[in-house]
Amino acid sequence: MKIIEWRSTVELQAETAPSDLARALIDRTCRDAFARYGDFLRAKKLPKLRGDPDHLPAISLLPGNILLDGKASRALDDLPSRFGAVAPGCCYWGLYVDSLNHLFLRNDPLVKDQAGELVPNPQFVRTLTHEISHVLSSNLGVWDVVGYDRQRDEDLAEEFVAYMGMHFPADSSAEDLARHGGPPATRGSPTAGSTATAGGGGSRAPRDPPANGSANTSRQREGSTK
Ligand SMILES: [Zn+2]
Repeated sequence: MKIIEWRSTVELQAETAPSDLARALIDRTCRDAFARYGDFLRAKKLPKLRGDPDHLPAISLLPGNILLDGKASRALDDLPSRFGAVAPGCCYWGLYVDSLNHLFLRNDPLVKDQAGELVPNPQFVRTLTHEISHVLSSNLGVWDVVGYDRQRDEDLAEEFVAYMGMHFPADSSAEDLARHGGPPATRGSPTAGSTATAGGGGSRAPRDPPANGSANTSRQREGSTK
């Protein structure tokens, strides 16, 4: 998968701008997930039509925290414009659009630890791993064999996250901001007030999820979803 676009977040340059450390983390996450997906499908007793993925998506990394960049153009959750057309819901950390063969991802592979050192962001790794399940299940033809079911696809992506050893939930927008050093009051965009509630407000409850209940990450199969 090739990164063709990477937009950083002004307030979090070190964590969200392209860097060797960030690219290495993305590579490692992809390598680990791709290496184990076949075993995962076998463990789930799911078939594949193809042995190798042959049509992998391009990647855009975009600002993803609605408390910072919610409706800014080309943010991951710029709902009124681009993404509203394909993903009517709030709020996304990742979005695989099958029909575009494109993977939209949050832009924060790194996070600062308490000492201020840049370290891998476990929430980014979680998001990318989840999305890779969508990408690979589609590319390997799983759904061509068993028939596509959006909720099953979503469940499978979450099961893959657990299979890869991550047993923590996705952060809300407020939790993410705190992880990045918050507080929201000093960083909020003008739209933060109106989007904070939809963004979870610090709760782990689903954030105003789209119809399928998938709040943080979602795959779209326009026109082919039953
Ligand atoms: Zn998903």
